[in-house]
Amino acid sequence: MTVKWGLIGASTIARQFMIDAIRSQPDGEVVAVMSSSAERAGAYARENEISRHYGDLDALLGSDVDAVYISTTNELHLEQTLAAAKAGKHVLCEKPLALTSTDARRMVEACHAAGVVMGTNHHLRNAGAHRAMREAIRDGRIGRPLAARVFHAVYLPEHLQGWRITRPEAGGGVVLDITVHDADTLRFVLGDDPTQIAAVTQSAGMAAGGLEDGVMTAMTFSSGLIAQTHDSFTVKHAGTGFEIHGTEGSLIARDVMTQKPVGSVVLRTPKGEEELSFDREDLYARSLRQFHAAIRGEDQPSATGEDGVWSLAIAEAALEAARTGRTITIDPKLEARA
Ligand code: NDP
Repeated sequence: MTVKWGLIGASTIARQFMIDAIRSQPDGEVVAVMSSSAERAGAYARENEISRHYGDLDALLGSDVDAVYISTTNELHLEQTLAAAKAGKHVLCEKPLALTSTDARRMVEACHAAGVVMGTNHHLRNAGAHRAMREAIRDGRIGRPLAARVFHAVYLPEHLQGWRITRPEAGGGVVLDITVHDADTLRFVLGDDPTQIAAVTQSAGMAAGGLEDGVMTAMTFSSGLIAQTHDSFTVKHAGTGFEIHGTEGSLIARDVMTQKPVGSVVLRTPKGEEELSFDREDLYARSLRQFHAAIRGEDQPSATGEDGVWSLAIAEAALEAARTGRTITIDPKLEARA
């Protein structure tokens, strides 16, 4: 069965990665795009060879699409997901799921009640590098993980210097943009959840309107592991990385906090250094493949709606920690479901 996708949002991320990812599936088709401007919808549909376009959400949801990919600005994800669930459409939503974890939980509940699949587009779980690190930890290759460090300070490309640095009401700021990804990647790779977070933010000259464009966090995880993250929109030459240090060895990954299947992972132990090999599949194509499997009832999305609640709860706690100068307890308030 073909999965007919409708795009909610005439966005950059859909144009750069997600339309191709859908089209790379043997059973995936992009049939429509919806924008808040009918004119933009038309132009976007033409540019990307999408046969139908809508300037209205109800029209898209009233059509024969099976699933929607939501990549509008962050304040719109809540209402669009609730409406899609009500219309019986599967939902793959961009991160952050919403502006608050309370709203994100409503989205998860609505999709669950409607019996549709919900996923969060945390692409980094799909990177071969992160899956290789997760496997190495599970296989005990670094012993007991003690500490992790995420380096995700980058320079926001000029074409993305819009709502992210000017519109708090749209969910701008580096914490909702990047820290959510670190949070999800740490949870995925470590197989562990954070319990507490401290943070400091900065406005280094790019973001306006009281928004932060740099942040460092420090977290404690359930196992006792401690982790630090550094995210920025203003750092041009740092490069990205991810390290996990255990009792018996360390995993040192470079250039892996990225949208492309690139980078390296080195395992360092008393025996020396070993470069781990991993697959180089496109991250977004893999996310789509797993989402299609979830629609068929064979698997879960690579990041579920609940994972999106977790990453947002962590980001929310980071913002509160920075605002108050206190260490904040992280609680996604997710009820266990049979
Ligand atoms: P864009 O700024 O490209 O698009 C967001 C919205 O802005 C669109 O839905 C569109 O509204 C509006 N818009 C776009 N172009 C114009 C224009 N020329 N004039 C007026 N409005 C315009 O955002 P991104 O693609 O960067 O991000 C979208 C979402 O995806 C966010 O939630 C973000 O966090 C997430 N994201 C996720 C990534 C990942 O790897 N998982 C990477 C990048 C982003 P309309 O649809 O109404 O036309």
